[in-house]
Amino acid sequence: MRKVTMMSLMMILIFLSSVPAVAFTTSQHISTAILLDRYAENNLQSFILGFGSHAIIDWYVEDYKINYNDKGYIAFDGILSAILLKQHWQEHKWAIVGSIAPDIIDAILVLQDEQRWNEGKHLFPFHRPHRQPIRLNRNETVGLSVLLFSFNLKF
Ligand SMILES: [Zn+2]
Repeated sequence: MRKVTMMSLMMILIFLSSVPAVAFTTSQHISTAILLDRYAENNLQSFILGFGSHAIIDWYVEDYKINYNDKGYIAFDGILSAILLKQHWQEHKWAIVGSIAPDIIDAILVLQDEQRWNEGKHLFPFHRPHRQPIRLNRNETVGLSVLLFSFNLKF
C-alpha cells in the first residue's frame, strides 16, 4: 500500500512538471510543510499548514519561471521532492498533501481549459499574475530549495 501511494505521488510530480500552470518548485513547498508540521496537532491542522504555507510562498515569492527545456532543473526538483517523500511521507502525509494540492488543483483546471491559463484566471489568487516582492532567479531558487531540503534531510 505504501509503495502504491509513493508511486502515485511520483506520477503526480511528473504530471505537475509537464503543466505550465505553476512555477515548478514542488520541493520547496514540501520542505516548508514538513518543517511547519511540528506545530500541527491533528491531520486537519497539518493539511492547513501545508496549504497555507504554499499560499504565502506563492504570494510573496516569485521563483524561477521554469523553462521546460531546462531538464536539469526539472530533474533537480524532482529528485529533492522524491527524497523528501521517501523520508517523510509516513509521518507528514497530510502536510505534504496540503502543500502540493494548490498546484495539482490549478494544473488540472488549466488542462481542462487552456483559456484559463492564457488569461491568468487561476482558481487560487496566489497563482494569478501579481507582483511578488521577492523575485528569485534560477540560482537563487536552487539555493533556497537546497537550504529548505537540508533542514529535512535524514541521514
Ligand atoms: Zn503554487
